[in-house]
Parts: sequence; C-alpha cells; structure tokens
Amino acid sequence: MDQEKIGAFITERRKQAGLTQAALGEQLGITDRAVSKWERGKSMPDPSLMLPLCGLLHITVNELLTGERISMEDYQKKAEEKLLELQKQEALNNRRLLWLEVVIGLLSTAAALVMIFAASFAVTLFWWRVGLIAAGVVIYAAGIVVAVRLEHDAGYYECPHCHARYVPTMRAVVFSPHIGRSRKMKCPRCGQRGYHRKILTR
Ligand SMILES: [Zn+2]
Repeated sequence: MDQEKIGAFITERRKQAGLTQAALGEQLGITDRAVSKWERGKSMPDPSLMLPLCGLLHITVNELLTGERISMEDYQKKAEEKLLELQKQEALNNRRLLWLEVVIGLLSTAAALVMIFAASFAVTLFWWRVGLIAAGVVIYAAGIVVAVRLEHDAGYYECPHCHARYVPTMRAVVFSPHIGRSRKMKCPRCGQRGYHRKILTR
C-alpha cells in the first residue's frame, strides 16, 4: 500500500467535500493532527474509521486503499468483457464436445455395421461370426454410452416456460425422449414438462 498516495488522495477528496482537517476529524471523533498524519502518509486510518471516513469522502474502501478513484463504468466494462470472453470459450468447448459426439456416434455405428455385414456375408466359420457380431454390438453400445455422456456434459438445457438453464441428471438424459438435441424433461425450477432445447452457455 502506497501511504503517500493514499494520503494525497484523502486530501484531495476532503477538499472536494468542502471539509477542513479539523471538521473531518470532528465528524470522526479524532483530532486534526491525526487527519494531518494520514494526509502526509505518516499513518493509515484505523480500520474501524475506514467506513465512516469513506462515507464522508464519498469513496469506496477499495478506492481508499488504492488511493484513487475507480471509475465504476470502467470496472463494469472490463468485467463484462471478461465474462463475454469466458462465455465464448465455453461455447466453443461445448460445440467441440457435441461434434465429437456426432463423430463417435457415426464411427461406432459404421464399425458395428461393417462387422455385422462381414459376419453375415463374408465370414463362414460359425464362431468367427458370433465373435464379430458380439464385437459389433459391444462397439455400438460403447459408442452410445460415450455419446450420451458427451450430450450430458456439453452445454445446458433451457426450459421453454421459465427459461431456466440447467444441467440435467444423467438419468434424465438417458430416459428422456428427444428430437435432435431437444429432450422432453421436467424443469428443475418450475417443474413443467416440455421439450428443453440444448444451449451452449448459461
Ligand atoms: Zn422451467
């Protein structure tokens, strides 16, 4: 903490508030000498005096401790920019996961079809046929498990009634009927059933 900077800031704000050192001290129940010491950077206001002091100078404690005005607009703007950036990143990550889901779904389906096709037409030995069909079924099932897992993990669902955005339970995703990526589920907030749309960010 830069005590001299804070001191100069207190002086500046005190003058803007139209107060003398004595008047400020009186309102805080301390002497003008104590105020003078703060302003010269020789000491810091006691923590118990910080809130009333900030009230009299029309500043926040954060501003007192940094020794300068922090424009609320700047602060807000930076926070919003940061938030937007995070949302963009999240949307991108979730879009990738959903693409991965499509790719895994297609690959496992294709692999299973090839195996079952081969078992039906190309392979004649009985146990090879059984083995190929079993492997095809296992790959297909594994593909579905991974795809449902990704569908659950990527993004959120939005309730059309109350617009709540939420992550459903795994169970809800597995057992709900769906059209494309919209699933018929019960909203955890308003309790209504309906087709909830998949969205990429909260
Ligand atoms: Zn709802």
